[in-house]
Amino acid sequence: MKQVKFQQPPVGGVSRHRFEQMFPDERACWDHLKRVRLDCIPCPQCGAITNWTRYTKSRCRHACGMTKGPTEHTMFYRSHLPLLQAYYGLLLFSNMNLGLRTGFIQQHFGLHFVRTVGFIARMRRQAALLEDTLLMGGHDKIVYIDEMLLNVRRLQDGHYNRGRFGLIIFGMRCDQRIQLFVLPERSQEWTRRVIEAYVAPGSTIVTDAFSGYNWLRYSNWHHAVVNHRREWKNSDGFHHGPIDAIFGQLRRFLRGTVFLHCSDNIWEYLREFQFRFNRRWDPDRRFLDLIDHCPTMTTQTLEKARSQCDFRDFFLR
Ligand SMILES: [Zn+2]
Repeated sequence: MKQVKFQQPPVGGVSRHRFEQMFPDERACWDHLKRVRLDCIPCPQCGAITNWTRYTKSRCRHACGMTKGPTEHTMFYRSHLPLLQAYYGLLLFSNMNLGLRTGFIQQHFGLHFVRTVGFIARMRRQAALLEDTLLMGGHDKIVYIDEMLLNVRRLQDGHYNRGRFGLIIFGMRCDQRIQLFVLPERSQEWTRRVIEAYVAPGSTIVTDAFSGYNWLRYSNWHHAVVNHRREWKNSDGFHHGPIDAIFGQLRRFLRGTVFLHCSDNIWEYLREFQFRFNRRWDPDRRFLDLIDHCPTMTTQTLEKARSQCDFRDFFLR
């Protein structure tokens, strides 16, 4: 089996000029959000689709009399920022390859620091909610798997403690897609759980020589081992480069632009990284996905997304 050659992705994304053509004013953003959030979804009262008309400045009325605001339970809900600015923020968010700096947005929008942090957190959660956990690999596909130790701060009683501790980040890569998880421990039990849940049987799995993967030899997957102490490439020509490169990028991403990540919200940063990486061959999609699939952002949906990425409190649920 030939290993996939990875190439440099194209540079691009939705330009400022195109953005201005798409959204010339506040009303255009509002109409777009109404189309995405109300017109495509059946009315909760009568079940019919469309027929929503603007009723007040922020609400719409359905033919049956039901009223609803298009921003309800989205990232724009109860935000002080005008919709046009929030959309422009999303454009900047999607066009920056290594994530947004808080200072940049603070200067660019003239916002207070606390509001800036809140705004960027909303954009990050929007991206995080758009990343689904999918089955990877398949017949004749290679899945690269590795785990990494990441030092993070512990958040306690609303304060960042001085102490740091290690988190186990588990990464999988197949073709141009990656998936990242947080594991409670580096053990055979957990590698087995994740691989059985998210890697299709029949795939070739390339791992390092960690003993937690030994069970793969007697399983439905083909297992290729690269022992880093002895070789860079094993005798069958498999190497571990594709997934090691991801972890290098992830470290740079977290170190360079992010200073508020801690043990509790690390899943949002992992998913943001995943969101950017998985769309790098189609950079336009980053912005278009963010605005066209405006997901419901409530405590429940965020908790559900977290449980699919962060398995540390698995035993508590
Ligand atoms: Zn209705």
